[in-house]
Amino acid sequence: MDELKDKCGVIGIYLSNHDDSASRLAYYGLQSLQHRGQESTGLAVSDGTNVEHFRALGLVSEVYNKDVLGSLKGHIAIGHVLYSTCGKAVIENAQPFVSRSKLGTIAVAHNGSLVNYEPMKEFLEETGSTFTSTSDSEVIIKLIAKNYKKGLDRALTDTIQLIRGSFALCVMTEKVLIGARDPNGIRPLCLGKVDNGWVLASESCAIDAIGGELVRDIAPGEIVIINDDGVLSFNFGEKTSKKTCVFEYVYFARPDTIMDGIPVLEARKKMGEVLARESGVVADVVIGVPDSGLGAALGYSKASGIPYAMGIVKNKYIGRTFIAPSQEEREAMVFVKLNAVKSDIQGKRVVIIDDSIVRGTTSRRLIQILRKSGAKEVHFRISSPPVKFPCYFGIDTPARADLISAQHETEEIRKAIGADSLAFISMEGMIEALQSCEWEEGLVEEYPDRGQRAAKGSISPSGASNCGYCQGCFLGEYPMPMIGELGKR
Ligand code: AMP
Repeated sequence: MDELKDKCGVIGIYLSNHDDSASRLAYYGLQSLQHRGQESTGLAVSDGTNVEHFRALGLVSEVYNKDVLGSLKGHIAIGHVLYSTCGKAVIENAQPFVSRSKLGTIAVAHNGSLVNYEPMKEFLEETGSTFTSTSDSEVIIKLIAKNYKKGLDRALTDTIQLIRGSFALCVMTEKVLIGARDPNGIRPLCLGKVDNGWVLASESCAIDAIGGELVRDIAPGEIVIINDDGVLSFNFGEKTSKKTCVFEYVYFARPDTIMDGIPVLEARKKMGEVLARESGVVADVVIGVPDSGLGAALGYSKASGIPYAMGIVKNKYIGRTFIAPSQEEREAMVFVKLNAVKSDIQGKRVVIIDDSIVRGTTSRRLIQILRKSGAKEVHFRISSPPVKFPCYFGIDTPARADLISAQHETEEIRKAIGADSLAFISMEGMIEALQSCEWEEGLVEEYPDRGQRAAKGSISPSGASNCGYCQGCFLGEYPMPMIGELGKR
């Protein structure tokens, strides 16, 4: 079986005045979520009676045009951008998935990864379902469709109780928009308000892009049902325990996003400050690896008093997965993607900050680039702890054998990448940085339909191990047990 690991973005729009422009808003929202997936994209749109569906391989800016958006008229829309690592980009895996039956139409857009995909798929196949994709998200829509005769609410809650893993979902029928987040809230989902309507989005930057206001995050284990009456919220019964993904803050999310009450750029700056405190070094200049290392570099510079400089430029036009056939070519691509600003570097002792080391390719090449540009010393600092374990919940990390920190100690990595010194932030330091950014006050007013939301205050400030964050990639401790083959990687 092709293994499909998704890191995706989802959006949902509900226009209460029944204006038929939901697809246009969803399109702009998807543009802002493009960093979450560049392989394929899709929209499902309802005018209250019919659901139209469109999917294509490629970037949002490439695949939609006036005609496509013009043909997707309606006041409810869900959209998706997909990144997968199954090796082949195929339209069958593009989302949303749509299921049509005489009971009605359901569409699903999913960000996350199910750890019980295989047993669920087997169960569904044994009871007559057929699958058209290798995506675990198809299991979700098949389960909802199977239970739809019990009514939408029951179909959803029954489905959600059967699936295990991470899921931030946008679901729609002809008449309603629904959002749901897994009981650990591993992947993000937030609620926003636009004129005459509501938005659900993976990241608040998508709400900003369409002129909306962030209302709040969907809580772990919460379902919101949005229709003309507004937003109805309920918990789907499971015991919830917040374990949001740290890597969203470290690398994945856009810096202008506010996620679960934490402004992402602030979190990165704080990680840089902690890093400076934990592993300071005498140097002339601090630079960051664009884009996700820049926040931490700013924080490191502030805390250490060492001037910040641009130092490295990233080629804006190589954002997409580069299909390089060999490791050699992948390595060469770092030179095409990143280059040093010689005037910032020459003759200087440089502290360079990146958000993470995964395979070690980027850091090794970057150090070569800096030395070639005349750096006197290169001190590498990493604003996340060593990544030692694979992610099963939607971030694309390779198997342990390819994770340099799973195989080598820091000193060995330092030698391998050719740095004068190398240090990672500590686990406690990273959690301290995140917790220092948690906004105490509600972002906007408490949402009236929801009595007790799992608010910021519910995060336990009790250190790294019970801190409200999934740190599986660093510690190998996951929010739930791995099933079958997954545990063996
Ligand atoms: P590597 O070159 O394999 O050590 O990867 C480290 C670089 O990749 C860092 O610059 C990170 O910003 C970036 N990175 C970290 N995690 C991921 C990911 N899941 N997908 C793509 N790039 C990543």
